[in-house]
Amino acid sequence: MARPLELAAWACWPQCSRGRRHPEPMASGASAHEIDRDRVVHSTAFRRLMYKTQVFVNHEGDLFRTRLTHSLEVAQLSRSMARRLRLNEDLMETIALAHDLGHPPFGHAGQDVLARRMAPHGGFEHNLQSLRVVDALEQPFVHFDGLNLSFETREGILKRCSRLHAEELEREDPQGVGRRFVDATRPSLEAQLVNLADELTYNLHDIDDGLRSGLLTLELLDAVPLFGRQRRAAVADDPGLEASSARKQLFATLRRMAAGLLDDLIEHTAKRVQEAAPRDVDDLRRMPELAGWSDDMRREVKDLARFLFRELYRHPQVVQTTAAARRVVDELFDQYSSAPAEMTAEYREQADRQRAVCDYIAGMTDRFALREHQRLTGRQAFAACS
Ligand code: MG
Repeated sequence: MARPLELAAWACWPQCSRGRRHPEPMASGASAHEIDRDRVVHSTAFRRLMYKTQVFVNHEGDLFRTRLTHSLEVAQLSRSMARRLRLNEDLMETIALAHDLGHPPFGHAGQDVLARRMAPHGGFEHNLQSLRVVDALEQPFVHFDGLNLSFETREGILKRCSRLHAEELEREDPQGVGRRFVDATRPSLEAQLVNLADELTYNLHDIDDGLRSGLLTLELLDAVPLFGRQRRAAVADDPGLEASSARKQLFATLRRMAAGLLDDLIEHTAKRVQEAAPRDVDDLRRMPELAGWSDDMRREVKDLARFLFRELYRHPQVVQTTAAARRVVDELFDQYSSAPAEMTAEYREQADRQRAVCDYIAGMTDRFALREHQRLTGRQAFAACS
């Protein structure tokens, strides 16, 4: 077995963790971030990811990514990155597993509706909601709310935050995870890289899901330089590939794309870290963002993202489903706001009704939201799931 590598000086050393908001005695020989990972994996919110949309709504097919399989893919890639850069592998895995815990049902459709409905009541941001899930909504402990995760994990979960909400967080928890959005500093390198692992992962798996759905074709994708070049290279390497199925050609191309994107990211990040020479993680937090692709690769990733936006996320079929999903969330919001007794006890008893409605809906899986919508309105939102 390979000996674990020594962590880089600028990594988040578990023994130097800034700790938890509620002090706890160290219960076992596990590191703070291994304990965090176990708490995330055993949370209710984590299991719900199984039935939450990534791009395609849960009932559209069993083989599309869900938020759970997406999060597992991000975690796997994050671990590879951590090993190659001598960073904290447990921490990166934990941030990846937890990064989407606050996502409402139906992907961006759910998020857009909650953001609009909550605008006059303190707003809704899904990254902030992920933090709220681990800090407050999960309740496995007797003496405090939340999972009581370490600072480093919570810092990574809160990858974006408006200034207004950051100031609010800072008032509640001075020098906490909101601070960097006020000071305009960066998070740990582990957090920076999980963010890019997320981007790399969804760009690649959305190509796969797009092809599986029939909304994208290899010919369409060939127009994307990053894809076209790797597909031609795959065929040049193995001439038998051209006569094989579209899926085999796709997998051969995606494998090459993944390796190319990962190698570029690792090499470019390592080079920038070497030039900046941070003394430790706090020094690194004060520096410009060090994780990233080379300029050429960054441009190609942007081209791919633009292509997916145009050809997949804005495809009439996806847009139609999204519009129906928006209506479901909007109508659920109306229903629970006027009849809070329809929610479960812990939500209907909350003093802040709008926030309770928002938390209740944000926690739902796609299929629970659809069942509730049908129960409360008597209508079926999607003909396909009858
Ligand atoms: Mg994600």
